[in-house]
Amino acid sequence: MAYTYDDENIFAKILRGEIPNDTVLETEHSLAFNDIRPQAPLHVLVIPKGKYVNYDDFATNASDAEILDYTRAISKVCAMKGVAADGFRMISNAGRDGVQEVPHLHVHILGGRDLGRMLNPA
Ligand code: AMP
Repeated sequence: MAYTYDDENIFAKILRGEIPNDTVLETEHSLAFNDIRPQAPLHVLVIPKGKYVNYDDFATNASDAEILDYTRAISKVCAMKGVAADGFRMISNAGRDGVQEVPHLHVHILGGRDLGRMLNPA
């Protein structure tokens, strides 16, 4: 499917330096920063610098270099934050049913406590 990217989304503004962020890691193609409304002791968002709406858009259209950088950036954040041993959760919401608030690909990395079951009952 073809996606239309909204240049005015809040993560685009972060990438342009128009609003601040609490950076955890920056790489050539990726940026990781603390979520402004953390839902766990560790709640980091990892975004690609490229204009991708969600993971489907990214996996379909990003270059191999971007995909490698992004995948490794997620792993580096887990290592930096020391959650690999006790475990963590990655979430990437997409679209209406995924209840995606910000239309720029982001992976939530959550950890630092028992996160419970994956989904709340509908
Ligand atoms: P989602 O519902 O998956 O699109 O999640 C969007 C996430 O972005 C939420 O967890 C918000 O708390 C977070 N968020 C929104 N604005 C900012 C911001 N300026 N800095 C950091 N996180 C943000």
